[in-house]
Formats: sequence, structure tokens, C-alpha cells
Amino acid sequence: MIEIASQVSLQGYNTLALPACAEYFCSVTSEQQIAQALDYARSHNLQVTALGGGSNLLLAGDIAGLVIYLDLRGINCVDSCKDSVTIEFAAGENWHKAIEYCLQQGWYGLENLSLIPGNMGAAPIQNIGAYGVELCDLFVSLRAINIATGEVLIMDRQACEFGYRDSIFKHKYSNCYLITQVSLELWAQPQVNLQYPALAEALAAESEPTPEMVSAAVCAIRSAKLPDPAQIPNAGSFFKNPMVDAEQLKSLLADNPKMPFYSADNGWSKVPAAWLIDQSGFRGLRSGNVGVHRDQALVLVNFGGTGAELLALANRIQSEVLERFAIALEIEPRIYGQS
Ligand code: FAD
Ligand code: NAP
Repeated sequence: MIEIASQVSLQGYNTLALPACAEYFCSVTSEQQIAQALDYARSHNLQVTALGGGSNLLLAGDIAGLVIYLDLRGINCVDSCKDSVTIEFAAGENWHKAIEYCLQQGWYGLENLSLIPGNMGAAPIQNIGAYGVELCDLFVSLRAINIATGEVLIMDRQACEFGYRDSIFKHKYSNCYLITQVSLELWAQPQVNLQYPALAEALAAESEPTPEMVSAAVCAIRSAKLPDPAQIPNAGSFFKNPMVDAEQLKSLLADNPKMPFYSADNGWSKVPAAWLIDQSGFRGLRSGNVGVHRDQALVLVNFGGTGAELLALANRIQSEVLERFAIALEIEPRIYGQS
């Protein structure tokens, strides 16, 4: 039987270390335990919130209802041929440790996503991406349980509607499913993806870069550039990089000739949100007990404040960027407990 506790502090369960409580909380290690937790929620009329590593959350206040920490474990190879393998990962597997395990087994493709915090089950929620690779590039399917009905659903890549840091789980299916397993197709032969300039530069001296070298290089770049949440609580990039159309890009460049941008599909361009925030004067700013990291304007940090304080700072940044550049920045972490 699962144990359901009440008024549980979530401060140690979110990388921003924000103080907030779950009205009810339980940890589950199997689909059978999930069924028990959902029965409890249904019979007590409680809303359900899924929790993984807590690295993409903004807890603006206490969370009403039942918070379910998904701690299912297991990594299994279910299919293999000369060039590829299909691997099933349980939702509670730590993302980075899973990559290390895959490298040991000779399963390749995830290296560019090394050191992203959090667990496997949350990876499809925002189609995690870094250094030129996104989860959807390797994704086969996922297994999920409908929170309202308890039914199991298998969803393929198309059904997940992946986009740039986006999926159906942020829209139509927001807070509707608990993901229990993710299947990925990985390479059985070493291959590397060095299309991201910072990575290519880091490995320029290697005549034959290996996947292990790519993973090590990504870890080194990230450790040098990003604040470690264990030392300075943060949730990584706080805003998504906005996309602008050709007309808006032209007008932005007329006013800001030095603005960096990256061309994307169908005439759209991506503008680094960090640049917009920096130009708006927020980099390194401290406001009470929250602030903007001094080296990474995209990373908001918590010095002991609350979710409400952090959200107020985020809203201030959004207003300033909107006024200066006519760009509406979208908050990346999922917000819970907002009154
Ligand atoms: P949580 O924060 O626990 O949850 C996030 C959302 O997913 C919530 O809505 C939650 O309800 C839901 N959820 C969690 N698990 C499940 C489940 N099993 N079923 C259904 N819903 C679920 N992201 C990137 O894309 N690229 C990066 O390079 C990157 N770098 C980061 C660096 C730092 C320092 C930090 C702190 C964060 C970074 N992130 C990055 C954001 C974050 O690590 C990822 O989004 C990660 O996938 C979140 O996983 P989690 O287990 O911590 O999810
Ligand atoms: P960076 O290399 O300083 O680049 C700044 C931004 O410009 C990035 O967000 C990246 O977009 C974009 N960019 C750079 N070169 C690009 C290219 N050749 N083509 C297209 N876009 C390009 O970024 P960083 O802050 O150090 O982060 C490095 C990588 O880790 C990025 O992929 C970033 O997304 C990821 N990351 C994500 C989080 C998070 O919480 N989501 C946190 C830290 C790092 P993309 O973001 O689209 O790659």
C-alpha cells in the first residue's frame, strides 16, 4: 500500500528551493501504486500533480490536492539490430545517469543532452533540448496513465505534438496524464552530432571525437556556464527563446543592428531571450531575495525568496522586454500553486 502524507514541504523537491507545501503527497514506484494513488485522489476529490526532479517548476504557493512523485525505475533494451537499439526507460530514472548508463552499454545519441537535470518522465513534457539535439529526434513512444480514468495510453511521436520546448502535455493534455515510461531509439554504432558551434569548437582539436568525448565536453561547458542548483537554486532557462517572423526581425534589426538571431523554418527566426533581458538591464539584478544570474541573464535565481517574489520579477522582465522590443517572453518552467 502507498503512504499518503499531508502538508509535505516541497522545498527539497524543487531546484529553485522555493518554500511550498503539498496538501497531500505520495511517492510511487509502480503502475499498481499509481492506480492506488489515483483511486485515493478520486475518492477524496483531489486534483493530482505529477512531480519528477522538480527542475522545471515554479512553486508560487502551496499545491492543493495530491502531489505524486514518480519514482518508477528500470532501463531495458527491448529491440536491437546492427545499427540501432530500442530502450525503455521508466519515468523515475534520472536523465543524466541514464545517459551515462547508455554510454556504458554502447547505446548512443543522447550525449548532447548530458547533465540536463530531472527525470525521464518529464523529458517529453517540454521536449527537452540542448546543443543541437531534442528528445523528439530519438523518441519512439511513451506510456501514460490518464489521471481522470486510470486508462493506459501509448503515444507515438506524432501524437505527442512535439515543438520547440513544447508538446501536447503543455496544452491539450496539460496535467491530464502521468507518464510512466519513455521509449527511445538509440544508435548501436558510435556517431556524434557536432552541429552546435560551441560544441564543435570544444572538440576542434580531436581528429575522431567519440560520443563519450561529446558527453564530457557538454558537461564541461554546462558546468562552466550554468549555476549549479545545489549551490544557487535555479530552474535553468526561465524564458523560452522567442521566435519572430521576417517582418518583425527586419524591424528589430533596424533598431538593434547587433541583435543576434538564428534562422529557423518557414521564415521564422529565434532571438536569444538572454540578449533581450541583458539589453533591458536585468543581468545581475537582485530584487529582494530573488534575482537574475550575473553571467546568465536567462537564469533567475533564488536567494531565499518565495515563488511570488520570483514571479513578480519575471513579470517585470516580461513588461520591460515587451516595451523595448515588442516581444512577449514566455515563461518556461511550469507554474503551480498560483492563487
Ligand atoms: P519536474 O520539474 O518535476 O516537472 C516538470 C513538469 O513535468 C511539471 O509540469 C510536472 O508536473 C511534469 N511531470 C514531471 N514528471 C512527469 C511524469 N512522469 N508524467 C507527467 N508529468 C510529469 N531543459 C531543457 O530542455 N534543456 C536544458 O538544457 C535544460 N537545462 C537545465 C539546466 C538547469 C540547471 C536546470 C535547473 C533545468 C534545466 N532544464 C533544461 C529544465 C529541466 O531540467 C527539464 O525540463 C527537465 O526535463 C525537467 O525534469 P524534472 O523531472 O525535473 O521535471
Ligand atoms: P548559448 O550557446 O550561449 O546560445 C544562446 C542561445 O542561442 C541558445 O539558447 C540557443 O538556442 C541559441 N543558439 C546558439 N547557437 C545556435 C545555433 N547555431 N543555432 C540555433 N540556435 C543557437 O546557450 P547556453 O545558454 O549556453 O545553452 C546551451 C544549450 O543548452 C542550448 O541548447 C540551451 O537551450 C540549453 N540549455 C537549456 C536550458 C533550459 O533550462 N531550457 C538551460 C541551460 C541550457 P537553443 O536554446 O534553441 O539551443
